[in-house]
Amino acid sequence: MARTAQVEKSARFEGKDYRRYSFWLETAGEDLVPRPALGGAERADVAILGAGFTGLWTAYYLLKNEPSLRVVVLEGEVAGFGASGRNGAWCGSGFPVTPGELVRRFGREAARELIVEMQSTVGEVGRVTEAEGIDAQYFRGGMFRVARGRCQLPAVHAAHEAYSALGLGDDYRVLDAEETGRRVRITGAKGALYSPHCATVHPGRLVRGLARAVERLGGTIFERSPVVGYETGGSPHLATARGEVRAGTIVLAGEAYLTRFRELRRQVLPIYSLIVLTEPLSEAQWEEIGWEGREAVASNRYTVDYLSRTADGRILFGGRGAPYRYGSRIKDEYDRHAPTHEMLRRAAKRWFPALGGARFTHAWGGPLAVPRDWMPTMSYDPKSGVATARGYTGQGVATANLSGRTLADLILGRETATTRLPTTNHRSRSWEPEPLRWLGVRYVQSGLKRVDDRAERTGEPPTGRSLAERLGAH
Ligand SMILES: Cc1cc2nc3c(=O)[nH]c(=O)nc-3n(C[C@H](O)[C@H](O)[C@H](O)COP(=O)(O)OP(=O)(O)OC[C@H]3O[C@@H](n4cnc5c(N)ncnc54)[C@H](O)[C@@H]3O)c2cc1C
Repeated sequence: MARTAQVEKSARFEGKDYRRYSFWLETAGEDLVPRPALGGAERADVAILGAGFTGLWTAYYLLKNEPSLRVVVLEGEVAGFGASGRNGAWCGSGFPVTPGELVRRFGREAARELIVEMQSTVGEVGRVTEAEGIDAQYFRGGMFRVARGRCQLPAVHAAHEAYSALGLGDDYRVLDAEETGRRVRITGAKGALYSPHCATVHPGRLVRGLARAVERLGGTIFERSPVVGYETGGSPHLATARGEVRAGTIVLAGEAYLTRFRELRRQVLPIYSLIVLTEPLSEAQWEEIGWEGREAVASNRYTVDYLSRTADGRILFGGRGAPYRYGSRIKDEYDRHAPTHEMLRRAAKRWFPALGGARFTHAWGGPLAVPRDWMPTMSYDPKSGVATARGYTGQGVATANLSGRTLADLILGRETATTRLPTTNHRSRSWEPEPLRWLGVRYVQSGLKRVDDRAERTGEPPTGRSLAERLGAH
């Protein structure tokens, strides 16, 4: 049956200076002048909403596999405007649902296949980057999940045990405090889990370069063309204020912004992740800190921190903590939440006393999307003509590449290893309606922060039994 969906009026886009949205967009090596907007009626085989990693990887693999396809991408702002142009630069195999929980939900084999596929996805991003000549500063340094304080050591060992139980333990190494300190000197680090399955990238250059690669393959990208409604069923199409694209298949690749469509409002939860960035550090500062391997770094806090060392010698320190907004609202002004940015600057200086009086030159943020069960979906329904991939919970840089390959295979009717993964056609249940959603999410956000703070204060690991942990940790 045909269905029509409309985006709310208040969510329509306005003119913006795109370079100010993140350091990555500012240094993408482009002026970010928008491509032409859709100005009438178009026909396509596949019409894609969103020119972030998900939409662009989908377009890329469709065109690589079937060069004769007509693929049109409609982007409300400019390519890379969303999380893809603003993230923490990790391109890793990490997945929002833990290995243990994947086994519990989908069984050992399916869990293992998904994790192995995520690992090879990190290499696939590097391969395409090189093949397409995208100067994305792809650097395969691996990653450390550091135990900051004794209280986080059990989590490091538990993660290693979970990988070992799947026969993947050899890839991951538990480092003691001394070895961790030889690699990177972080206050209070008592050990770390090292994984080789992570690279860092310049996300702005990657997403913009990918857009150009899609165009070289024959795809068309319209920018400043917000989709205000779409129809599924007999005659699928994406509609903008100035025209529409009719297509055999429409792809909804808008991640957190999809909540602006009433039909999708409760499918994912927009949560803000925020980032601060230092000036390029001096040689003396880097000598004190170490970190020559440029690994991605995080600790084991529930309330999430993530760090990377940029190619031009800055430290990026990101974290959650900005409050969920009633009604899943997304607004530019939420990208900059002064108390959270200040908390991140203080945390960076605690981690690295060498930062002393270093200047923080940039602060930004953006919304990511959390499904009710934290499980991303990559799905396609030939009857309604709709494909979608979403719900990466802040771990979407590599995962979106897997989405692109999976959606391309599903749309082209190919059965492959990716279309058999538990992410394919996964359905998460909806988030609660408001005001329950706001009450519950705020409760979990503050509860998990209290659990983290208590663990750091007492040195005792979290029990995993508090209500906030049972509701909010996966
Ligand atoms: C601050 C931050 C840090 C992060 N750090 C990391 C990290 O280090 N590693 C990692 O793996 N993941 C990270 N993530 C998550 C990761 O960036 C995302 O999961 C990933 O980029 C999602 O890609 P996407 O293409 O699905 O969505 P997006 O990049 O959000 O793209 C969606 C696009 O759709 C467009 N759009 C939305 N609505 C419409 C409409 N109605 N019409 C037309 N276009 C529309 C938007 O303008 C946007 O360009 C982070 C996210 C944030 C916000």
